[in-house]
This record gives sequence, C-alpha cells and structure tokens, in this order.
Amino acid sequence: MENGEAKYRLRNHMEDVVSQKLDKLLPNVDMCKCEKCRMDVLAYALNLLPPKYVVTEAGDLYSRVSEFNAQSEIDVEVALTEAIKVVSNNPKHAMK
Ligand SMILES: [Zn+2]
Repeated sequence: MENGEAKYRLRNHMEDVVSQKLDKLLPNVDMCKCEKCRMDVLAYALNLLPPKYVVTEAGDLYSRVSEFNAQSEIDVEVALTEAIKVVSNNPKHAMK
C-alpha cells in the first residue's frame, strides 16, 4: 500500500486529551503562552503519561474515543501542573 493512501491511522489519544486540558488550564496560569512554551508543556506532560494509541479511519474525527476514566483525568492534571512548573521556570527561548 502506498504511504499516502493509508486508510487507517494511529493516533495518540492522550495527546488530544492533554492538549484540551491545557487549553482549559492556560488562562489561569502565570507563564509565557507563546506557541513554543505551550508545545514544551505538552511535550513534557506527554512524556510523563502513558500513550493511548487508537486506530482511526482517515478523515474520521476520533470522537468515539472517550473511555477516559477519572484517574486518567487526574494523572493528566498532575502531569500538566508539573510541566507548567518546569517550563515556566526554564523558558527555552530568549526572554523579550
Ligand atoms: Zn514562550
């Protein structure tokens, strides 16, 4: 099968969950909110969390995946809180 023709894709659902949660937390957080710092927080948090791969059909919007339990929600918040602390103390770009 040609690479570009793949019908199914692997997607790390954890990435979506963490990204959405960060969008909710960020307005209340005192840190640089540029794209780089936001991505650094996501990367740091995702490295602390187990990936959750799902198979999606190309073009399909993975909306059926919602077997996230309460413990996972807490884990995501804890990881994001830690990530925000680390990134805001060590911004990886020059301060302006
Ligand atoms: Zn920044």
